Amino acid sequence: MATFVTRAQWGARAPIEVGTNITPQQGGVVVHHVDGVKLARTNHADCAGQVRGIQNQHMDSNGWSDIAYSHLACVHGYLFQGRGENVRTAAQGTTQGNDDWYAVCALTGGTLTNYDTVTPQLIDAIRLGISRLRSSGGAAQAITGHRDHHSTDCPAALYSRVISGEVNPGGGPLPAPGVTFRSSPVTVHASVATWQYRMNTAHGFALTVDGQYGAGSDTACRTLQSRKGLTVDGAVGPATWRATFA
Ligand SMILES: [Zn+2]
Ligand SMILES: [Zn+2]
Repeated sequence: MATFVTRAQWGARAPIEVGTNITPQQGGVVVHHVDGVKLARTNHADCAGQVRGIQNQHMDSNGWSDIAYSHLACVHGYLFQGRGENVRTAAQGTTQGNDDWYAVCALTGGTLTNYDTVTPQLIDAIRLGISRLRSSGGAAQAITGHRDHHSTDCPAALYSRVISGEVNPGGGPLPAPGVTFRSSPVTVHASVATWQYRMNTAHGFALTVDGQYGAGSDTACRTLQSRKGLTVDGAVGPATWRATFA
């Protein structure tokens, strides 16, 4: 079980402003990492200083009111309290993302092929963060990667742990987001991007991954539903989601 580290315990600065206008019932939780280079600390004693450095950068260089993330997870199994529950983030790169989604950041980095070691303790800490954001913060079941919201590689090698559902508090597969995707009117939701990515990588489609459930997504959905013996209606509800991520 991961250990929670409060802001007082890691020596956080006070936020300049606390925005409570977040509607995570419409979104969920986004998984991030720090950077495109390996940076996980060898010794846990160095992790709190790393979090303070990120806060300083976000407040002093980026001009944000606080560290951008809701929580931060280290490879040693500790969850550092960020903005916390019921506070709007600055992490997602889109207004919609910051309005509807919390952010859990892994204190890791690297490229797909040269990444910090993803420890079971890191996964446990991410799970604790998502669990808190659901139980005390009202987050919906959806879990996405930053790349589902915005043009970025984040969270690089960790994205496969999102797709597999490993970061979900109850384990995989990735839970259905609680929104049914339809092409009329077009559903726009970051979990549509997660679904499009999965359709391409696991089921052989070539969809544009843009988070918009247009005609191409509808057609691909019908093909998958037919293959899987599901009702063919072109809408991604829980059963079609499960068939996509099983
Ligand atoms: Zn990110
Ligand atoms: Zn640590």
